[in-house]
Order: sequence, then C-alpha cells, then structure tokens
Amino acid sequence: MKRVGFTTTIPVEIIFAAGKVPVDLNNIFITDNDPSAMADFAEDEGLPRNLCAWIKGIYSAVKSGAVDEVIAVTQGDCSNSHALAELFLSSGVKVHTFSYPFEKGRRYEALKYEMERFAESIGTTLSEGIKYAEKTNSVREKLRILDKMTTDGLVTGFENHLWLVTSTDFNTDHVRYEQELDDFITEASQREPAKDGLRIGFIGVPTIFSDIYSFIQGRGASVVFNEVQRQFSVPSVSDDYVQRYLEYTYPYDVFGRIEDISTQISNRRLDGIIHYVQSFCYRQIQDIIMKQRLECPILAIEGDGPGSIDNRTKIRIESFLEMLEAKK
Ligand code: SF4
Repeated sequence: MKRVGFTTTIPVEIIFAAGKVPVDLNNIFITDNDPSAMADFAEDEGLPRNLCAWIKGIYSAVKSGAVDEVIAVTQGDCSNSHALAELFLSSGVKVHTFSYPFEKGRRYEALKYEMERFAESIGTTLSEGIKYAEKTNSVREKLRILDKMTTDGLVTGFENHLWLVTSTDFNTDHVRYEQELDDFITEASQREPAKDGLRIGFIGVPTIFSDIYSFIQGRGASVVFNEVQRQFSVPSVSDDYVQRYLEYTYPYDVFGRIEDISTQISNRRLDGIIHYVQSFCYRQIQDIIMKQRLECPILAIEGDGPGSIDNRTKIRIESFLEMLEAKK
C-alpha cells in the first residue's frame, strides 16, 4: 500500500478510504533516533539555517524515502509548506494539497468542497471517507477519555502529549493503535491520581524539547492540558464529519483557539500556561494576542533544534512555577 506523508492534521479517514497508509511526517522526524541529524541533512541540502526545525525534519523525512506521496497543507498550517511542496514537486515527488478555508463566511461549504477535491485527488470520495470514519469514531472517543484522565491526574502530561500527537495518523494503523490505547487506559485507570500540585497547560505547537514534561513534573507541577495536541485528535463530538474539522481550531484564526483555551482554563482549573513557540515560526506573533486575552498567567518559551531544554529556559520555568506557587 502506498504511504502518504502529510505536514499537519488532515481528514485522515479519507486517506484510509483511498486504501493508502497515512504518515505524519512530523512524527517520523521527532521519533527518529537522531532528529538533529535530520535537521542537519536539510541544511546540507541547502535549506536556510534560519528555518523552523520541523520544516527541516519534514523535508528530510520525505527525502529519506519514508513515503511515496505527500500532502501539503497549503492554508491553515504553515507558510513554509508552500515552498516545501514546490521543492518536492521539483524533485519528482507526487504532491496533493489540502487547504483549510480562512474566511468565516460559508466556511462549512468551502471546507466540504475542499474535502471532496482532496478525496478525488487521492483516489476516493468524501462519502467513502465519511463511511470510513465509523471505524475510527471509537478511537477518537477513547482519546477523549484519555484526555479526561489527564485532567483527573491518572495520565501524565507527557503520556497525553504522546497519544494525542500520534493520533494524527494513528501511528499508521488505527486498529493496532486502538488496541494499544485500550491496554493503556486499562493500566492507567488503576493508578492513584497524582497529588494536587500546580496545574499547568501547554499551548502552541508541540514542543521540540525532549525532556520538558519530566522537568516540569520533577518540580511538583502537572501538565493537564496540551492544547494543540488535543486539537490534533479532533475532539469534536459532532456527528457531522465536515463539522468536526470545522471545530478543529488549529488551522483557523487565533480567536477560535483562544475561545477553546479559555474554556479549558476554567474546566481544568489551570494555574498557569506555558506557551511554547518555535524559533522562526510566524505563530510567535500570536503570543501577543494570547497574553492580551487569556485570563491566566502565561510564560512564553522558545525552542529551536531537537534535544534537551537549555539552562536559561529551565531557570525561567522554575521562576514561573515559583511565582504560581506563591500566588496559590
Ligand atoms: S512550528 Fe511554525 S514554522 Fe514550524 S512548521 Fe509549525 S507552523 Fe511552520
């Protein structure tokens, strides 16, 4: 079966319905034994040094032959994806595109049309994709349970991050993924809930730091919310397949994200938020609006290449947690 790589969450059931294997290129990059070498490879090939590491990783994942075709999300993800798609096309890689409509007016119709166009490009129909979703609905429901267990202190922030971030392609096999998720939920439901400490939320793109969750946990705080990873799992409970991807906040304007985060601040009783921003990412600008509109203390931290947290960031996180503790 052909393996189809993608640059961010897309309606994955359409790929399964087309008889192809979905592969999230971000996960190939970050779970590699040596993700730094992948970023270096992209630079050796001529990609600029001042480019987001995720883009470099995606480039190297495709160049390594991990996938047969690529889906570039040309609106609603990252402006770098355009040039990346052009690079792939120019080296003979088959590229499909998917675009989330930015304009609010008639967004439902525009998204439905885009899903139909995309389905045709990949070799199926939207109706087949919707039918296929009957097979993944139960996994999505279990991911919502896992997320609730995180709020209840039974699942750690890192475990939550891992499960939700890999739900974009269900690790390429939703049947196996669901079985493993069942086992995990059974095991985690027998744990003692974590002791009540500071409750932290992560917002922004998934962090590139490998040890940030254990660092925060080691200081007695718990991460009980991973904003974008949760969105990647498409948490909507709507019966309407198109509507689910309309409620998925990540690809649209920042205000939908702020509404979602505000709800979670209250539902999950967050004491503070860490806004992770990636070096050279345009989304850094949104930090200004987040700080203006969210009613919760926010610390913005920035990461560049894959690896451990740098000492300066460690000190900033520690000071932030101390400040929250004193406030509590
Ligand atoms: S972190 Fe920002 S620049 Fe990097 S791929 Fe994601 S959206 Fe693009």
